[in-house]
Amino acid sequence: MRWFRRPTPQFITIQPPQQRERIGKDLWFKCEACGAITRTKDWTANWKVCPSCEGHSRLDADERLDLLLDEDSFEETDANLVSSDPLRFVDAKPYPDRVEATRAKTGRNDAILTGRGTIGEVPVAVAAMDFQFMGGSMGCVVGEKIVRTMELAIRENRACITISSTGGARMQEGILSLMQLARTSIMCKLLQENRIPFISILADPSTAGVMASFASLGDIIVSEPGAYVGFAGRRVIEQTIRQTLPENFQTAEFVQQHGFIDLVVHRHHMRGSLITLLRQMRNLEPAEFEDANGSSQMRASTMIAKLESKPAQPATK
Ligand SMILES: [Zn+2]
Repeated sequence: MRWFRRPTPQFITIQPPQQRERIGKDLWFKCEACGAITRTKDWTANWKVCPSCEGHSRLDADERLDLLLDEDSFEETDANLVSSDPLRFVDAKPYPDRVEATRAKTGRNDAILTGRGTIGEVPVAVAAMDFQFMGGSMGCVVGEKIVRTMELAIRENRACITISSTGGARMQEGILSLMQLARTSIMCKLLQENRIPFISILADPSTAGVMASFASLGDIIVSEPGAYVGFAGRRVIEQTIRQTLPENFQTAEFVQQHGFIDLVVHRHHMRGSLITLLRQMRNLEPAEFEDANGSSQMRASTMIAKLESKPAQPATK
């Protein structure tokens, strides 16, 4: 029997490393661009736009549709399509294992969310890419879902909206992912023949195989401030042409100046701008609407004037 017993402590002293763990890691958000620190809650409520420098962070596909579509109007299509492993591809690990791990992490079957919905009461078929899923890469599933979304647009006479956020084709599916470039491009032609409005939104980043296909074929191409938009990366281009590229090369603003993007729209005004454009393209009366920040009401005339005032020719060097 022990005569002296150490009393059970009522309070525990927390050592610094443990103390750090107790403070939620996700409580604060530090902006990569300006270093400002914001409460994650406030930053998320601001649609992941930094309140200090207006820097736009990436949204996932669900957040993107929450931002753009009318409330409760979204109906998902083809949710169960999953990748097979046609090439039996192995890099650091087998491709099916990589897909499975990403599916578990993101709760999504592939790098895209598609469906039907309405924006300002205009019916749309929409496809939103998700960069979290293997860099938003386009393999057979992404390609197939884009094709099906465009087919849906034609079948049900809906406007088509795609939101790209991608590093390009999925190398693990090799030539089969490259075939999606041709398939989706053909669908853009069919949209045009059927007089279906197609708006392509380029979110950060929009590059490579996706830019070399449907993302650059919209009737109207819209992007967000500061989004990375291009085909090959800066280093590859610099090494090839043996020149130093300008600082702002491959930003949405730079690409707009060179005539490739029609509008660069702040995220808070994106929904309002889409409503204006869609109603204009569908020959409907302009609608009153509230943007994400609840104040701005950009009317059709302003928007169209903006579109018409964009530079027609690339600026000379
Ligand atoms: Zn910032």
